[in-house]
Amino acid sequence: MKNLIIANWKMNPLKSTEAEKLLGSVAMGFRNIKRTEVVICPPFIYLSQLRKIKHGLPLGAQDCFWEEKGAFTGEVSPAMLKNIGCRYVIVGHSERRKYQRETGETINKKVKAVLIAGLKPILCIANLSQLEEGLNGVSEKVIIAYEPFFAIGTGIPCSVEKAKKMRKLIKARQVLYGGSVNPQNAVDYIAKAGFQGLLVGGVSLNARQFLQIISRVDEAKA
Ligand code: PEP
Repeated sequence: MKNLIIANWKMNPLKSTEAEKLLGSVAMGFRNIKRTEVVICPPFIYLSQLRKIKHGLPLGAQDCFWEEKGAFTGEVSPAMLKNIGCRYVIVGHSERRKYQRETGETINKKVKAVLIAGLKPILCIANLSQLEEGLNGVSEKVIIAYEPFFAIGTGIPCSVEKAKKMRKLIKARQVLYGGSVNPQNAVDYIAKAGFQGLLVGGVSLNARQFLQIISRVDEAKA
């Protein structure tokens, strides 16, 4: 199985031209990467436009709603995302749990809706109870991203030892580590802590550093 690296651009960049430029730079550097899969998750508003550029990288969304269509103002459904060419959806990110008050129950509905639409959910969790809630009644394989609260967007990464302990407790085939990943610590979470990939936030907005993470992970797999 290839390692998987997800770029979560969060609510960035401010302009669509910057989004195109960032994706173009990552795609250019990605051409020699053979053993690692990379998915770019921009804000919803850029997805259609980025889809039209030839870059060869799969796109993902940062969230979705659980219904397919209807009177749900402001929402975007997994079916809509599929129709514009998305393949992945991040679900239950800690920033959505915090600012949008998402609960285990709504996150579970989203995981199920993403699977029904034929997309791959990436379920973000900070502990085992969030894992249990998110996967309640789900029998399909789901990609899990372990993201300890204190490490997300803080520049304070989780120790490799703690991450490794948590990885052992998560009974899933593909588990990513997320939280202040940078080019210096990226490989350790895979080679030492046993994760199958990474979810990268802040650093994914810097094409040069993000490409360093990708190439180091790719070389480590050789
Ligand atoms: C994230 O967006 O899930 C994340 C882990 O962010 P950062 O890499 O900036 O900590």
